[in-house]
Amino acid sequence: MTPPKQSRNFSEKLLLGATRLTSKTAPIANRIFPERLEIDDNQSVWASQMPDYHPGGPLRENIDADLAIIGGGFTGISTAYHFSRRYPEKRVVLLEAKTLANGASGRNGGMMLNWLASMYGYDPEMTRRIYQVTRAGIEMITDIIQRHQLPVSYRLDGTLTVYTDARRAETAQQETEFHQQIGIPTRFLDANTLKQKLNLQGACGAVLDPHSGQINGLQLVRTLRPVLQEQGVEIYEQTPVLRIQEGTTLTLQTPHAEIKAKAIVLATNAYTGKLGYFRDAVFPLHSHVFATAPLNASALENLGWHHTAGYSDDRDRIAYSSLTREGHIIFGGGSNQAYAYLFRNRTLYPDSPGSASSAFNQLSHTMNHYLPNSRNLPVAHRWTGTIGMTLNRKPLMGVRGEHRNIYYAIGYCGHGVTLANIAGQVLTDMYSHDDEQWRDLPFYQAAYLSIPPEPFRWLGYQMFTRLTGQSPRL
Ligand SMILES: Cc1cc2nc3c(=O)[nH]c(=O)nc-3n(C[C@H](O)[C@H](O)[C@H](O)COP(=O)(O)OP(=O)(O)OC[C@H]3O[C@@H](n4cnc5c(N)ncnc54)[C@H](O)[C@@H]3O)c2cc1C
Repeated sequence: MTPPKQSRNFSEKLLLGATRLTSKTAPIANRIFPERLEIDDNQSVWASQMPDYHPGGPLRENIDADLAIIGGGFTGISTAYHFSRRYPEKRVVLLEAKTLANGASGRNGGMMLNWLASMYGYDPEMTRRIYQVTRAGIEMITDIIQRHQLPVSYRLDGTLTVYTDARRAETAQQETEFHQQIGIPTRFLDANTLKQKLNLQGACGAVLDPHSGQINGLQLVRTLRPVLQEQGVEIYEQTPVLRIQEGTTLTLQTPHAEIKAKAIVLATNAYTGKLGYFRDAVFPLHSHVFATAPLNASALENLGWHHTAGYSDDRDRIAYSSLTREGHIIFGGGSNQAYAYLFRNRTLYPDSPGSASSAFNQLSHTMNHYLPNSRNLPVAHRWTGTIGMTLNRKPLMGVRGEHRNIYYAIGYCGHGVTLANIAGQVLTDMYSHDDEQWRDLPFYQAAYLSIPPEPFRWLGYQMFTRLTGQSPRL
């Protein structure tokens, strides 16, 4: 498929200029990506494992609802699930702009992790608590899969945080020993022990979290559709919410019909700003990902990938990689090119294949650096997804508005597979005024740091990332 040619707008020209002037990219030793591939449909490997999904039709008539959930990813689906179980008598509708799992939930790296995206600055009690809450979240996800016998591919054989710097590895080792003392079951692996799990070039050690893993999130979201419908949830796909009018009853405008709802949920993560909410709190960051064709046991052995569901590294522009049960290796992040904030939230891919192939080339370069034998691996899928970032890397879950009827859970900062599935419990408890157990957590009704508006945001991001090689954070 040939993408339509587009003339570059001002911001793209500036971006190109800035790239040429200040790019710190290392020369690419091994380009495995041509400019275009047959597979350039921006579909994730997850979608390829569920090819026969038929989205439901749009909402065509005006309706009333007790709760209208906007967005059909993990946050929206988990809220629909928990809310409709708690309140079977209430009318719940879920409105998805495109298809369920169209967003990050169907496009991620698949790592089902504990913790928050950033764990700096928490005291030992809160550190332990966050681990417990997220571990319970992972158990809840797998319980739901088992309870409803969902055909969802997942594994729970642990993930690694890999340290590429000896000093950082030493600090991680001390921290892990302390974590063990306070009951957190992570383990430090020195460079030799790490090799038995995963032989990564340049790794000085790693922290193993044995209670984490990997999941096909798109399958989770889409196979829950009939379960939710059985629980009485009305799901309308291809139904973007265009406008929200606040009041004791809120009015949502969609292309063909209007919804009057007593309460709503913003389950729109990186897209939330487009609805006029949290524009200064969450910014959309595009992350590029690719997946190999399925590898057999001997190919994995040859690569040095022995026993782990995935890893991420300790660099600021995190590289992450996971292994599906079907044998695909997924790889994302790791460079400025692989993460992009774009003016007006446009995607680099597939509209601009030129810039996207530099991102994918850089990705393959990073993967080849860690796994030198990965050079000739066949690539089967490449795609982009949009991460909702906050400046301090904390997600936000709460309720807002003059009438306290606008619930939200957003800003997971690339760490939402577990957290966005927990969000449904948090928001349902909040709605029920039964939310004691969540109140101390850092995301609960949290204040956030404001991000400057455009054009300063875009310029600031370009300057900062290109000059420092890091992502802005406070
Ligand atoms: C490339 C990539 C890799 C990632 N890797 C990992 C990982 O390995 N581990 C991890 O923990 N996290 C990862 N994440 C983050 C994680 O996937 C997200 O935090 C999580 O999926 C967020 O779920 P969500 O439901 O809140 O948002 P989304 O899944 O983005 O869902 C929002 C939905 O809202 C819909 N929508 C938007 N606007 C409207 C509207 N106006 N009306 C109706 N519907 C609307 C969208 O179509 C979308 O389906 C990754 C994210 C990306 C992009």
